[in-house]
Amino acid sequence: MILTKGENVLTTKKNQLKCLFVSSEVVPFAKTGGLADVAGALPAELITLGVDVRVVMPYYRTVKNKLPEDQLQHVAGYDTSLGWRHQYADILYKPTDVPTYFIKNDRYFDRDGLYGYGDDCERFAFFSKAVAEMICRIGFVPDIVHCNDWQTGPISLLIKDKYFWDKKYNNIKCVFTIHNIKYQGIFGREVLEFLELDDGYANSDKLEFNGGYSFMKAGLLYADHINTVSPTYMEELKTAQYGYGLDSLLRDQLYWKSSGIINGIDTQRYDPKTDPALYYNFDLKTLDLKEKNKKAFKKEFGLKEDNSMLVSIISRLTDQKGFDIMKQTIFGQWVMDKIMELGVQFVLLGTGEQEYENMFRHFKYLYPDRSVIFLDFNESLAQKIYAASDVFLMPSYFEPCGLGQLMAMRYGAVPIVRQTGGLKDTVIHYNQTTKEGTGFEFVDYAGYWLYKKIEEANELYHNRPSDFRQIQLNAMKESFGWEESAKKYIKMYEMLM
Ligand code: ADP
Repeated sequence: MILTKGENVLTTKKNQLKCLFVSSEVVPFAKTGGLADVAGALPAELITLGVDVRVVMPYYRTVKNKLPEDQLQHVAGYDTSLGWRHQYADILYKPTDVPTYFIKNDRYFDRDGLYGYGDDCERFAFFSKAVAEMICRIGFVPDIVHCNDWQTGPISLLIKDKYFWDKKYNNIKCVFTIHNIKYQGIFGREVLEFLELDDGYANSDKLEFNGGYSFMKAGLLYADHINTVSPTYMEELKTAQYGYGLDSLLRDQLYWKSSGIINGIDTQRYDPKTDPALYYNFDLKTLDLKEKNKKAFKKEFGLKEDNSMLVSIISRLTDQKGFDIMKQTIFGQWVMDKIMELGVQFVLLGTGEQEYENMFRHFKYLYPDRSVIFLDFNESLAQKIYAASDVFLMPSYFEPCGLGQLMAMRYGAVPIVRQTGGLKDTVIHYNQTTKEGTGFEFVDYAGYWLYKKIEEANELYHNRPSDFRQIQLNAMKESFGWEESAKKYIKMYEMLM
């Protein structure tokens, strides 16, 4: 179906809040991490609560494979200029479920991966410009443009400073959500060229950052409101330890327009009672079936079938996630050896830095029948592991929100986490006296404490099984859905109107 300019298949009800939600990855189309989960679930919840939300993302090769062009509507097409280069943006549209626009340009997006290319600056400058420019062409002028992470940083700048002369843009308010401040999209002077910005934007009050030019800084400066994905992370971002150079900007200049809202998970999609990825479905009342998942998992992947506690990690393999403290030595031994001395079994699913992939290859060589290592990205396998494991590790150096621990708790795996960011906001250390708590926490970023907490969990698992089960039940009872947080987002949007 071809729509002419200005025509639209969906109509917004009178007075309904309209939001264009922009993300470089969205479940179920493309995912490398938690951002995709948020972009897949939050808009759906906002729609349930009455907001007219449309999502927009790039039309990557992986999206193309799932949703071929002939299943989508073509709603607009136009040239986008990036300095001297003009690139064509095709706007494809899926009006069902969560209405989603896809920006198609094969030169930029028809590739195997999502990020990590030499021309990422140009690719996401194009994406940002194409999004800003589609607003006047698709018959949907949002009240709120909600941008996420550096890939969308320039959008608020373009809306506020470049296109303000068009009355369609006059009343748009921009929200910028930081999902991870470590990745800021810092490039050279070509940022100015691609975004067609003059030298006035080249100073440190604007986009300049440590000699480069920052997409994220553009997002922070020009948004009407900034938020991040947990209240604790917002406070941490204002410190030199966690702010990655943007702390003073957030602390001294932008504090008045910043807040933290915790993420949720899609509790329908991730439900151990119905998840088709599991060997056996279970819930609070049938928690015993979780044990059967563990047995089946051990059998399928060749783990010794004994009564040991199964410890898991599902993560990007990078320093941020605590893998550097797993390299440490304690009591003259490698931390991982000490952990294995406790008699536990270990499963890891992850991809990332070569150093850590090699570390776990070596680990597998040392513990062939007590460990399983998947150096892979596999969503259904991840759900199987959450369901099979007794304990889930997330010893992160920093964690904006963290979804792994939420998934783990939902699937009855007890989280062991470092007390930072969203981990601090979502996991409560178990108290043996009151029987309250949903996991184990440690504060100091050291392999020793990770080991000690695994030792503590293992002690409960073997010697006080009723306490261990109590933690599992407490964790599974927590509500990790999006409803409360989505209501907070709506309040934030309304406050800006
Ligand atoms: P981040 O976004 O920093 O990577 P989060 O904890 O917020 O971390 O989100 C990670 C998400 O990606 C979770 O849904 C987790 O289950 C999933 N995930 C991480 N690594 C893998 C993997 N190798 N295979 C499948 N899913 C993974």
